[in-house]
Amino acid sequence: MTLFSPQSITADLPLVVVAVERAVDRSPDGLTYALPPKLADLPEGARVEVPLGRGETPTAGWIVERLPAGETNGIPREKIKHVLAQDESGVVLPGELIQFARWMSAYYACPIGMTLASILPAAVRKAIGRVERTLLDFAPALDDPAARAALPKITKRQEHALSVLATLTRPVEIGDLAREAGYSSNEPLKRLVASGHLVAVKKTAVEAGFIARSGHLAPAPQPTPEQKSAIDAITRDLGTFKQHLVFGVTGSGKTEIYIRAIENCLATGKKAILLVPEISLTPQTVGRIAARLKDAKVAVLHSGLTEAQRNQQWTLLAESGAEGGADRGADVVVGARSAIFAPIPDGTLGLIVVDEEHEPGYKQDSAPRYHGRDAAIRRAQLAKCPIVLGSATPSLESWMNAVERKISTLHRLTKRAPGLNVPKVAVVDFGAERRLVNEKRPSLIGATLRDAMRVTLADSGQVLLLLNRRGYANYIACTDPRCDWMLTCTECDAGMVCHVDGAGEIRRRYVRCHHCLAEQMLPQKCPDCGKPVTVFGLGTQRVEEELTRTFPSLIEGETLLRVDGDTMQTAAHFHDALERFGRGDVRVLMGTQMIAKGLDFPNVRLVGVISADTALALPDFRAAERTFQLVSQVSGRAGRGEKPGRAIIQSFEPDTPAIRLAASHEFERFALQELEDRKQFGLPPYRRLARLIVRHPGETECANRSSQLADALRSFSGAVEVRGPSICPIARIAGKYRRQIELTADSAAEISRVLAEARSRGLLKLGEELAVDVDPISAV
Ligand code: ADP
Ligand code: ZN
Ligand code: ZN
Repeated sequence: MTLFSPQSITADLPLVVVAVERAVDRSPDGLTYALPPKLADLPEGARVEVPLGRGETPTAGWIVERLPAGETNGIPREKIKHVLAQDESGVVLPGELIQFARWMSAYYACPIGMTLASILPAAVRKAIGRVERTLLDFAPALDDPAARAALPKITKRQEHALSVLATLTRPVEIGDLAREAGYSSNEPLKRLVASGHLVAVKKTAVEAGFIARSGHLAPAPQPTPEQKSAIDAITRDLGTFKQHLVFGVTGSGKTEIYIRAIENCLATGKKAILLVPEISLTPQTVGRIAARLKDAKVAVLHSGLTEAQRNQQWTLLAESGAEGGADRGADVVVGARSAIFAPIPDGTLGLIVVDEEHEPGYKQDSAPRYHGRDAAIRRAQLAKCPIVLGSATPSLESWMNAVERKISTLHRLTKRAPGLNVPKVAVVDFGAERRLVNEKRPSLIGATLRDAMRVTLADSGQVLLLLNRRGYANYIACTDPRCDWMLTCTECDAGMVCHVDGAGEIRRRYVRCHHCLAEQMLPQKCPDCGKPVTVFGLGTQRVEEELTRTFPSLIEGETLLRVDGDTMQTAAHFHDALERFGRGDVRVLMGTQMIAKGLDFPNVRLVGVISADTALALPDFRAAERTFQLVSQVSGRAGRGEKPGRAIIQSFEPDTPAIRLAASHEFERFALQELEDRKQFGLPPYRRLARLIVRHPGETECANRSSQLADALRSFSGAVEVRGPSICPIARIAGKYRRQIELTADSAAEISRVLAEARSRGLLKLGEELAVDVDPISAV
């Protein structure tokens, strides 16, 4: 990095506003600096280093604005410090992205520098995988006999090198030419550059491993009339900001609509972003999209990439070579929520698609706590392009926007695509089923599900089993009914989960806290009364154990695979598991919600949900919505082939409307009832919500700080209702007490106003001790 030493002549230097990558929030839009002559041309969006504070500490930041000549933001010129240098990544974000970051910073109450810092992947910032290449070509002088005669004399071997170059496709990498010409070093070729015979072009490129494109090229099906009408409507809107909601059960052909709409967008010379909720969905979606969009460059951004791959994909997106040229940037980016920050050149974004828009995975749970879908809507608005949201179980926010507010166009897909069957869903009253058999140690897989598995496996079908809890069992308690001891984490106000490691002789049972990750051995005796300890409740490991006992033909790790956060530590593990399931080697895939979504395997003829009640127990007004989503999503995995599929849902509360309506595929009825309730209780989407969480190791300190903050907020809250502080549902995590303040209002703008005011008064310094969550989706 070249440091620039500050000069005394500041008079006519151009001024810029720089957002530093710090949690400083006093000047939310950035600080004013001067560009020294060497850096005078740096554009908005460039990442720079500036002196910060009294110590003039070099700090990274972003130029978010170039001030018009004469404008000084009211600061005397002699007080304005100089930008020190451009940072070594050389990154310049497109103006649209800067504008987008500005909105995000204001809406999610996160300093703009921090917001920008989270937009740029660390791999890009650190230039991981970047190499500089020197390419050689003939100098123009060689074409002109007179000019050529004027060049210095060269050796025979150098003449030979020139004749070798004539036979190659130019420009040629210097090392390659040296090898071809029989040189052991690049030096003689560099001398040919110095003598004027050759010209050298330096090019930086990001080298990285190849990202596989799935080869299976499915022929494009003829769109059904419903699909066609959606495709046409979206296509008509290309070039303007319009919202579309594609609502159709899994397998109804939504992805087909996305592909066609993207094709039509590319045909207009613009680019597209496709967001998918999780890495787990990416391999299949990317493979299919890439296979269908044969002539398009598809970039992929997700958490499973290596650092160098991420830099490569990001750089590929930022390239803005000539249209149709080999060096043009990617045309389509497919990725998880952060792909909404794809550095697509200004004016070239033509369409955004958000698949499974209701997924909680779109929300980021660290600052800036943005929602990928909502951010996508805003980005589409800035780019003046249409946005398509798709889901089998739309979020009530999106449903209301389409059905009640009519700000988005609803497209219903009422049938599964030709050849696909609607799965039959049966809800089993698990309590009643258990009472019937009266086992000493109750099974997690009841008789109905067990029999259905037998039939399916005998008929060479495949089975998906879902349980949304990792570990072996989630309760550890005393066996004595008179004693109420239960194991809780010492650092959190929460129970611990029993896990099992190894098998046979070396089998080890230990307990882990899923909030702070603390671990310890499973206690043998109750610390209160000395009686033995027992573990009960749910966990994927316990289901696995039961499966191998009940179905001796299933072999763990071979024909039976457990898929959860513990077994699938990298994306590669997960891809491998899916591939083995796809080949049919694995007969039963059992796991957490990782397997509930997006998977498309034709031979899955039975889906079992071990407990539909896990989401119902959440302390969250969205519990019913989540339960409905879970049951429908996972049942949709069945019956994607020629043979019919079915789903069996076990529940202790089989009459819960969310479960019943999901089983009968009645989303619209569910949404109507649920919206009615939300309206009555003043909950989102009718009211807007923001949550402020105050955290502190001292309980009293936490209480005092949260009360002070609430009081301060009330002094200027106006129409915004300030509730609390109250103790969070999990009162302490990792040794910190937690209290929350809730802001509610009829509109997002009112909440934004109060948050902006709070920021300008210095009340919201984000960090360990304060989190601000606008439109929260978690209530813990
Ligand atoms: P969704 O995204 O709603 O789950 P998909 O687009 O993945 O649905 O479609 C489900 C299956 O049906 C896929 O295998 C797809 O190739 C096929 N399909 C989609 N549309 C049609 C159509 N119009 N005709 C025939 N098959 C189709
Ligand atoms: Zn803990
Ligand atoms: Zn006890």
